[in-house]
Amino acid sequence: MPVTPDDAKLMDVLQGGRCFYCGELVGGKATFDHLIPQAYGGADIPANVVLAHRRCNQRKGDRLPNPDELDRFFAERRASRLGIWPPLRALRAAEEGQEWIAVARAISQEK
Ligand SMILES: [Zn+2]
Repeated sequence: MPVTPDDAKLMDVLQGGRCFYCGELVGGKATFDHLIPQAYGGADIPANVVLAHRRCNQRKGDRLPNPDELDRFFAERRASRLGIWPPLRALRAAEEGQEWIAVARAISQEK
């Protein structure tokens, strides 16, 4: 299910009103960034989405989140109904150089 306005409000609270990438206040100008990009099969659901400035979202582009970003996301989402999309855990557990294949495998198991 795509992100609802209620989900977005909760995300804003969990992120302390800050952009996921730069940590600056984001206010009402937040965009939805898909941690695993939709271009690579990332789901359009709250468990794969964070709030970010448009410029930070664009700068991230189609890369995968790095380990620090994943750890931060997991900490923010702990005990939240918004959840964590399982392929993100598979990505965190992947060996260096195996990230894309780990993500692709995990996504295929989601379908
Ligand atoms: Zn930002």
